Amino acid sequence: MAESDIGYMHAFQVYTGKEFGQQEKGLAYRVVMDLCRPMFGSNLCVYMDNFYTSADLLRDLHIRGIYACGTVRSNWKSLPKDLLPKQVKLQKHQYKVAQNDELTFCIWQDTKAVLVLSNFHDPLHVGQVNRRTGADQNAVEVPKQLADYQKYMKGVDTCDQMIGYYLLHHRSRKWWRRLFFYLMMVSAHNSYIIVKDVHPEVAKECWPKFQDYIEDLLEDLIGDTRANREPPKVDCGGRATEHSLEQLYVKNKVCRECSLSGVPGQRKGVTKMGCRQCNTPVHLACQSKHIMRMLQ
Ligand SMILES: [Zn+2]
Ligand SMILES: [Zn+2]
Repeated sequence: MAESDIGYMHAFQVYTGKEFGQQEKGLAYRVVMDLCRPMFGSNLCVYMDNFYTSADLLRDLHIRGIYACGTVRSNWKSLPKDLLPKQVKLQKHQYKVAQNDELTFCIWQDTKAVLVLSNFHDPLHVGQVNRRTGADQNAVEVPKQLADYQKYMKGVDTCDQMIGYYLLHHRSRKWWRRLFFYLMMVSAHNSYIIVKDVHPEVAKECWPKFQDYIEDLLEDLIGDTRANREPPKVDCGGRATEHSLEQLYVKNKVCRECSLSGVPGQRKGVTKMGCRQCNTPVHLACQSKHIMRMLQ
C-alpha cells in the first residue's frame, strides 16, 4: 500500500505461497482488509488492480469508512450479462456506466475493454485520460472513476519502478535474500521521499535522482568502492594543517560537519569541497569547526 502521488510505501504483506497446494480462499479480500484496517473510518480513497477488486470487498470497505475503486477482469463473474464486454459492443473510446446502491461500474473501450468498479464515484461524473491516436496525444472523455484510477495508481507504480531498477541483479535463489534486498530498497526509497520533504534544497543539489541518493547512501554504508580514488592519508597526529579543504568531489555532497551538528530544520551545507585527510565532505563555512573537532 503506497501513497498515491509520490509512492511512499506505507504497509505491505509478503505473499508466502500456496498452502497445501491450494491458494488461500479470499486472499485478495483479506490482504486489502488487513492493509486498510488501521485506516477504517478515515474516508481515505484506496485504489487497487483487478487482482483485488470485488463487489464484496468494496461494499465491506464502504461500511468501514474506506472509499475504494479498482479495475475488474473482463470475465468477472459478478458482472450482469448485459454489461459483459462481448455484449455491450462499444466503439473505441465509448463507455457505459451502471449503478447498484453505492457501487458504480463502468466499461470503457480502449484497445481492450477496461472495467472499473467504485464504491464512491458518481456514475455521471466524467474525467479525461490522454490517448495517442497516430502521432498526436488526445484527451479523451471517460467516466471519472476511470480517470481517477489512472491518476491515483501512479504512486504504487512509481514505487515498484524505482525499486525495480535496483533489483535486477539480485535474482538470488535464496528467497530471504530477495526479500532482504527488496525491503532495503523500499526503506531507501521511503527515506529518499522523506529527505526531499525535510531538506528540499539539499536534495535538489545533491540527489536530483534516486540513483544519486542510492550512491551516497551506499558510500556511507560500505565506503567508497569506486576505483582510482586515492586512499585517505594516515592521520599523522591530527595537526590542524593536515585537515585542509580542497575540491574533492565531482558531485555535490552534504557537509559532514553540518550533518553531525544537525539542528533539525536547519539548512545543511552542500559542497564539492572536502577534507582529503578524512575523505569526507566539509563545506567552507565549517572548515574551522572540522579542524577543531579533529583536534579534540
Ligand atoms: Zn579532516
Ligand atoms: Zn558545514
